[in-house]
Amino acid sequence: AAHLDRIAAVDEQVHAFLHVNERALEVAESIDARRAAGEAVGELAGVPVAIKDVLCTSDMPTTAASRILEGWVPPYDATVVSRLREAGLVPLGKTNMDEFAMGSSTEHSAYGPTRNPWDLERIPGGSGGGSSAAVAAFEAAIALGSDTGGSIRQPAAVTGTVGMKPTYGGVSRYGAIALASSLDQVGPVSRTVLDSAMLHDIIGGHDPRDSTSLTDQWPSFTEAARAGARAEAFKGLRVGVVKQLSGGEGFQAGVTQRFEAALTAMSDAGAEIVEVDAPNFEYAIAAYYLILPAEASSNLAKFDSVRFGLRVTPEGGGTVEDVMSATRAAGFGDEVKRRVILGTYALSAGYYDAYYGSAQKVRTLIQRDFDAAFRQADVLVSPSAPTTAFKLGERVDDPLAMYLNDLTTIPANLAGVPGIALPIGLAPEDGLPVGIQFMAPQRADARLYEVGAALE
Ligand code: GLN
Repeated sequence: AAHLDRIAAVDEQVHAFLHVNERALEVAESIDARRAAGEAVGELAGVPVAIKDVLCTSDMPTTAASRILEGWVPPYDATVVSRLREAGLVPLGKTNMDEFAMGSSTEHSAYGPTRNPWDLERIPGGSGGGSSAAVAAFEAAIALGSDTGGSIRQPAAVTGTVGMKPTYGGVSRYGAIALASSLDQVGPVSRTVLDSAMLHDIIGGHDPRDSTSLTDQWPSFTEAARAGARAEAFKGLRVGVVKQLSGGEGFQAGVTQRFEAALTAMSDAGAEIVEVDAPNFEYAIAAYYLILPAEASSNLAKFDSVRFGLRVTPEGGGTVEDVMSATRAAGFGDEVKRRVILGTYALSAGYYDAYYGSAQKVRTLIQRDFDAAFRQADVLVSPSAPTTAFKLGERVDDPLAMYLNDLTTIPANLAGVPGIALPIGLAPEDGLPVGIQFMAPQRADARLYEVGAALE
């Protein structure tokens, strides 16, 4: 009830939610009843959780913030959503995002932007700005996001919250509307590292319905976070500062300053700080912005006016192709169209090797840089984002400036390694939150919860 009151009080300004679950209280009461009847409910039972609108919910519309899916109610729940329900969490509603998760500011939502609770004139990051803003504004206790190139971690950075992108394949994507299938991961958003770890324990683990889902037995992330808060996690830990992600052009002075203060704190706590060189990270944005549009153009082909959502018939009728074309013209926003066109071009006959093929080779080189870096360091660090929250409207007409904000987060997606973003104070020049990102080798997600909780 407190969270619903808070939503009623502030969401008109923040606009973190696209849909609020009108049955939330009823669900909460049914969980109380289960508990009263002596049923063993989980540790997070009753906790309200906000869900990014890219995840299918059978009882609420799921639009991916696009007009093409306006009002669509999926016939099934995403696996992560059914796991939340089984654990007794209360779905509070669906959160705003950039359309189909394309963007870094939530300004590409077809339903209007979300605003940063720290300063309503600024962006909350993207694409998952709604989930992070909801958590930062105390409208939700925790939330779910998806991260293809930083959409959990960059919003965490600019809203002073925590966000974790798990190892690729660590959390099921069944029922998550696909953006770029070789990069997408679902993960937790929260105010503390422990909260993310607890949520990750609930949503993570093998799902036979997702063919990329890992079959690993995962350790308890909750335990890892609790251990980190207790023990001397930094003693003897090799912390690798990635040269290419930690300063220079595009990095705001206050971000660098807070980052360096965090390094000093870790070194004081016994960490060995080493600089690692990852020369191919320089090409990460270029490779990503070929791979992502290519895969997205293919994934978005299913929005064909026949199977889901919107259907626009041209005046006087027309062929199936005319209807498809009119529907996609009306249903997709500019950024989606830009990427579909780019991706289709990059995949077209004669260009495939030059663009998509080359980008995949660069991706292999980036993975090798990670392998080399993890021989020198147990965890890698960088600022979570190069700047604090920028102003609404500042970059929306300049796609390249928007893409550059993903500099620090994209490499982890290209290599499938886990990354966590957590707050490390405010930038002196603007008083806005700054985040630090830790990355670990594939499958070492527990290490990130331990180290994150130790720094927190
Ligand atoms: N900002 C990145 C993009 O626009 C990240 C997207 C994401 O992680 N979903 O592609």
